[in-house]
Amino acid sequence: MTDFQATRARFRIPDGVIYLDGNSLGPLPVAAEERVARTLTAEWGGQLIRGWNSAGWMVQPRVVGDRIARLIGAPAGSVVVGDTLSIKVYQALAAALAMRPDRSVILSDSGNFPTDLYMAEGLIETLGRGHVLKAVAPEEVEAAIGEDVAVLMLTEVDYRTGRLHDMAALTAKAHAAGVVTVWDLAHSAGALPVDLAGSGADFAVGCTYKYLNGGPGAPAFIYVAPRHARSARPALSGWMGHEAPFAFDPSYRPGEGVERMRVGTPPVIALAALDAALDVWDGVDMADVRRTSIALCDLFIELVEAQCPALELASPRDGTRRGSQVSFRHPHGYAIMQALIDRGVIGDFRAPDILRFGFTPLYIGEAEVRGAVAVLKQVLDGGLWDRPDYHRKAAVT
Ligand SMILES: *Cc1c(COP(=O)(O)O)cnc(C)c1O
Repeated sequence: MTDFQATRARFRIPDGVIYLDGNSLGPLPVAAEERVARTLTAEWGGQLIRGWNSAGWMVQPRVVGDRIARLIGAPAGSVVVGDTLSIKVYQALAAALAMRPDRSVILSDSGNFPTDLYMAEGLIETLGRGHVLKAVAPEEVEAAIGEDVAVLMLTEVDYRTGRLHDMAALTAKAHAAGVVTVWDLAHSAGALPVDLAGSGADFAVGCTYKYLNGGPGAPAFIYVAPRHARSARPALSGWMGHEAPFAFDPSYRPGEGVERMRVGTPPVIALAALDAALDVWDGVDMADVRRTSIALCDLFIELVEAQCPALELASPRDGTRRGSQVSFRHPHGYAIMQALIDRGVIGDFRAPDILRFGFTPLYIGEAEVRGAVAVLKQVLDGGLWDRPDYHRKAAVT
């Protein structure tokens, strides 16, 4: 059984804060402070350019990729880290489309995170080959999988509602129709057990600043199923994905396996923070995380529905159909969230009316759930949210 008291001690959470936004930005792992300081002072400061070899900066994207692979059911050597998730979506989708040159539909769902859909739109325009992006309602995805579809591109956990797709079933159905799959694990990695190898997914991508606690702007990851790794065509053919970057060849040759998905120089300092953040997962059993996360979310729903009747549940009620977050709707959701944050209960808001709360057993327990609901009830019963400054929208919600 995972010791969640021990994992909690590995994070810095400010006093008086109940942090329910680890689904958007995980908190600071204590180990990252020392690790980043060492990277700056001893590695960058002391080793200068030599750090690429002597401090392992060059191999860090693969080394950290292997650590993430263990958390998402992927074999060693199938995951590499770098760039942002938007870029990794573009690369995975481009590689997947190249495998089905005779088909033109990219199937996704209307609940997908906008950047995934935007990147698809941009890629379609760049390719100029008449691809179409078809975004159906989440519950209509399965029926829309057919032989006209080139790629099924889905985010496993809906960022707004927490609705969870059945990755294994949809991948199986896609493969039966000859469709290549791209799974976005932004709200899955570190939130629930993922079995990329077992589900047969072709490509997967995700970010590391949410449930993996890598820090603001931490680099993304990409998975290429080993059976495709030698043939996948990286659309962004940067020198770090070249077979021999320091041969300085005038023309591109893709690197070995997933390494070809690297693009440019890796963000060494951010990778150091992420590597330290991944230490927290040593000794954590993802099945314990899942069971505890469902229990915390269930309790939150039960208490909110009993004490805050003005809020309407926007997430699936069945914990096995949800990621690790709970969302409620209210027409004044934004102002209510500002009032909560002002009182130390930090969640976030997603337009048009969603209050979003992430539950992470690594540092959240039953006491935090009860504490958050007490403040929420106070804010709603007293109408405390109805102040002009709480209605004023900030750039990031
Ligand atoms: C958080 C998130 C992103 C963010 O992409 P970045 O390029 O890292 O800004 C993309 N897609 C999904 C599904 C997300 O949840």
